[in-house]
Amino acid sequence: MQDIDHFRAEVSHWLNENCPKTMRTPMPDDEICWGGREFAFVSDDQRLWLNRMAARGWTVPAWPKKYGGGGLNGAQQKILAEQMQAINARSPLQSFGIGMLGPALLEFGSEAQKLHYLPQIASGEIRWCQGYSEPDAGSDLASIKTAGVDEGDYFSVTGQKIWTSYADKADWIFCLVRTEPDAKKHKGISFLLFDMTSQGVSTKPIELISGESVFCETFFDAVKVPKQNIVGGRGQGWTIAKYLLNHEREMIGGSDLLFGGADVCALASAQIGVDENGRLNDSILRAELAKFIIDEMAFDAHLAMTKNYMRAGNQLGARSAELKYLGTELNQQRQNHIMAIGGLGALIWSSHNNQTHQTPRQWLRSKANSIEGGTSEIMLSILAKAVLKMPS
Ligand SMILES: Cc1cc2nc3c(=O)[nH]c(=O)nc-3n(C[C@H](O)[C@H](O)[C@H](O)COP(=O)(O)OP(=O)(O)OC[C@H]3O[C@@H](n4cnc5c(N)ncnc54)[C@H](O)[C@@H]3O)c2cc1C
Repeated sequence: MQDIDHFRAEVSHWLNENCPKTMRTPMPDDEICWGGREFAFVSDDQRLWLNRMAARGWTVPAWPKKYGGGGLNGAQQKILAEQMQAINARSPLQSFGIGMLGPALLEFGSEAQKLHYLPQIASGEIRWCQGYSEPDAGSDLASIKTAGVDEGDYFSVTGQKIWTSYADKADWIFCLVRTEPDAKKHKGISFLLFDMTSQGVSTKPIELISGESVFCETFFDAVKVPKQNIVGGRGQGWTIAKYLLNHEREMIGGSDLLFGGADVCALASAQIGVDENGRLNDSILRAELAKFIIDEMAFDAHLAMTKNYMRAGNQLGARSAELKYLGTELNQQRQNHIMAIGGLGALIWSSHNNQTHQTPRQWLRSKANSIEGGTSEIMLSILAKAVLKMPS
């Protein structure tokens, strides 16, 4: 107990000394630090904050120190999160490396791969993208056709990926490739890592309904991928892909970003007004918001319990589908309410994606929440089969 109290005091002191004041304000989407070779820091403070946190291993507090992590146990991770929240400290680094590839490498990577790739993720040096979906392989992911032909000490990779988030900004890709064309569908896939500057890689941004362009079509034309860049063995890619997807779904469903931002009740009170008892002047919206707030509180409690479960070293496995489904459906409801509260004014659209008039953009962006990382229908199927054990 003394140790924990001492740790809490030390963390609080260090954060107060080292977190720049400008990194203690709510973080707009365009100020998220993604890291990477080409990343343009919004300020010197942002760079400083990342470097200081990375030096302590606190961008990935749960990872072992030898891989760039903080080596913190579950109780210590919780304290760090609480103390950061107490001063409104921004997350110093957010990346697919931290939330997706890192956990997969920790589980399936060779020691050499872990020592090479994990510290680069922890420090924000290398930004990763995810090459899973293809034009004919989305929910039915195991149908991928991108081929890796064995050329001795390398695979020659040819094919196309689609919806590759930030492929045009990423340094490296973790990619599902069919290397065993004669094996059964799920057994013929390998999990390869390669540099996006490799000869034969090209990207073409796709615009979203919100006007943003967060993802790309990604093309591979005889890209040479050294065999040492395979994670797990040949044909083991499906097992790794599924494991990584569980972490991706935890990341999406448990993301503070989904639930940060506007207090819906305060927004409604300010916009619509309240009666002499402080009740919202719109009885229908009032009832809808009451239901939403109760659902959100229940989800928050569930999320807190789940985070404790994971900090204790447990894996969520297929139950990550639960977080992904509930978290993203709730965010869509939240965005619908914000639009309803705003009335006609909420429809004001700016041709530039700047900080004003974000409401319709965020509402439209939330439409993708129930698709990215696996659709809500697929999440419900996973829960039915793998968690509730219902007959298929
Ligand atoms: C914002 C965003 C970012 C993304 N980023 C990436 C990325 O970085 N890398 C990457 O590889 N992919 C990415 N994706 C792609 C995403 O993983 C796929 O869009 C998703 O898996 C669905 O595949 P699909 O689009 O081919 O739809 P489909 O699989 O064609 O599905 C179409 C519809 O049919 C339903 N459906 C399909 N099969 C079934 C079934 N068996 N049972 C019930 N319903 C079913 C689906 O639920 C959906 O409603 C991203 C998508 C979005 C929206």
